[in-house]
Amino acid sequence: MFEDIIEFIKSLYPDQNPVPLHTPVFWGKEKEYLLNCIDTTYVSYIGEYVSRFEEMTANYTGSKFAVALVNGTAALQVALQIAGVKPGEEVITQPLTFVATANAISHCGAKPVFIDVELDTLGMSPEKLDDWLQKNTKPYHLNKPFKAINKLTGKLISAIVPMHTFGFPCRIDEIVEVANKYNIPVIEDAAESLGSLYKGKHTGTFGLAGVLSYNGNKTITTGGGGMIITDDKDFAQKSKHITTTAKVQLKWEYVHDEVAYNFRLTNVNAALGVAQMEYFDKILQNKRKTAMLYENFFKNNEVKFFTEPKDSNSNYWLNVILLKNRIERDSFLEFSNLNGVTTRPVWRLINKLRMYQDCQSGNLNNSGLLADSIVNIPSSLRK
Ligand SMILES: *Cc1c(COP(=O)(O)O)cnc(C)c1O
Repeated sequence: MFEDIIEFIKSLYPDQNPVPLHTPVFWGKEKEYLLNCIDTTYVSYIGEYVSRFEEMTANYTGSKFAVALVNGTAALQVALQIAGVKPGEEVITQPLTFVATANAISHCGAKPVFIDVELDTLGMSPEKLDDWLQKNTKPYHLNKPFKAINKLTGKLISAIVPMHTFGFPCRIDEIVEVANKYNIPVIEDAAESLGSLYKGKHTGTFGLAGVLSYNGNKTITTGGGGMIITDDKDFAQKSKHITTTAKVQLKWEYVHDEVAYNFRLTNVNAALGVAQMEYFDKILQNKRKTAMLYENFFKNNEVKFFTEPKDSNSNYWLNVILLKNRIERDSFLEFSNLNGVTTRPVWRLINKLRMYQDCQSGNLNNSGLLADSIVNIPSSLRK
């Protein structure tokens, strides 16, 4: 059974041995724009590509504003900080995510609380979120509007960070609805879901702000990079200000008006982003076509191929298959990687990592099942 799968994957990527999980492509004007950075000497923070990249991203996602940053983790940290997360507070997220989601919460001095994901979206369950908030929080009326306080710890729950896993959208409209009931802002970790839509609307545009990543293994890459997208002008301005050393616009003088970061994206990185966005539709079509070939192949296989949940358009960043249990998963990982096809298990659940194992969580049954069964299979673009 595994032999057939390996043979099929190799037939999709005939010139690569071993077949990698995900590699970037540079099929557009990447070289031309990089050369332009060097020829004009604009290799650092000044230059036209950063604002062009921001405009293209805002246009593409349908958000009013986009602010480019050095990477997705920094973008999450800054978005949480601007959403009002302060040291000593708590932020709800899912255990099935890349560690950066939880790290960004920690960098704000806050502590994650883990809520389970759903089996058919791989994203946070709105019902379990509502249930947990209902049972574990009480309204804090000293602040107006009221805020949710964790009954056990006495701490404020100051944000919710759902994640669109591997590009598959979670039920984000319902998550935002629940969050609104408790007056908690939602920051969407859309690091993996550039190009993914939920009910026709781009992921990352449902909450107060969304965060994108352009790391080397993502759907498009700027080498390293991130973006905050939001419809809130004040949020966008604050994001720009705090990530560019909080420098005040004056004619000559260097004046900064708060403790801030140098989290800017360079013109060189943005040049790659502009070039990639110019053919992003083609990239999405290419990825979808590969996913459909997989879907078709796995129809006649005992191994289940994970497809788009209801109301969703995935970017199919990383394709997912589901093995029966941990034993079968491990033997598939062993077999595929020994036979020239790179595959990998999903991340160790964040609540099981040393730094996060003392965090509070709801019932995490689905995350546990998925952690034992998910395997990512090769998903690069095909020529
Ligand atoms: C990639 C990723 C990030 C972080 O992005 P970087 O650009 O690598 O810092 C955050 N969250 C998730 C879910 C990711 O996959």
